Amino acid sequence: MIYPGPVTALDRVSLEIARGELVAIVGPSGSGKSTLLNIIGTLDRPTSGAVHLNGQDVATLSDRRLSGLRAREIGFVFQQFHLTDGLTALENVATGLLYAGVPRRHRGERARHALTRVGLAHRAGHRPQQLSGGERQRVAIARALVNRPSLVLADEPTGALDSTTGHAVLQLLRRLNEEGTTIALITHDRDIAASLPRQIEIRDGRLVRDQVAS
Ligand code: ADP
Repeated sequence: MIYPGPVTALDRVSLEIARGELVAIVGPSGSGKSTLLNIIGTLDRPTSGAVHLNGQDVATLSDRRLSGLRAREIGFVFQQFHLTDGLTALENVATGLLYAGVPRRHRGERARHALTRVGLAHRAGHRPQQLSGGERQRVAIARALVNRPSLVLADEPTGALDSTTGHAVLQLLRRLNEEGTTIALITHDRDIAASLPRQIEIRDGRLVRDQVAS
């Protein structure tokens, strides 16, 4: 059997995202977008180079401090929602609080507040299979928000949705950004990318375009 050589998923990418930005990450499949998002979100470690969050080099933190920082400061949203089928919307959102040290008695209230922010308080008792795709993604966004993170990282958040529903989810992300949350999102949708204030393009692991809308 022939084993493939090492893959250079990202190559000499240097990038700064300021607090309060809303950034689209675009590029062909396999170009390194998810790897970049995972490295920014401290889920992956770069082989070389450094990641600074709030000015702090994350490599200097112990695993425990790093998971604490991730739980408090970063919310993740995925294309396929990653909700747990057996749990209600409210319980799914509350799982976002498990690693943030929020006492059990406050979790329900915090989860309800997050569901209200995404306009789904009336669906709190529904399970994912009783919700539409757009509603599921809003539950997933509520779970990402429940810790009041300063940064939300979304990997193709509209990729599994029809365009109308996708635009509604994008509107929600825009509103959260206007309220102060920094957001970086991967998208294949050129219209969505073009509508955002900044676009970063990755090709073959390299940053080939970093464009701020005029
Ligand atoms: P994108 O999100 O743009 O589709 P990825 O970041 O997922 O791209 O992948 C970038 C490159 O790294 C691709 O060549 C992909 O095949 C490779 N890759 C991603 N994850 C792994 C992994 N866990 N093991 C080996 N190669 C990987």
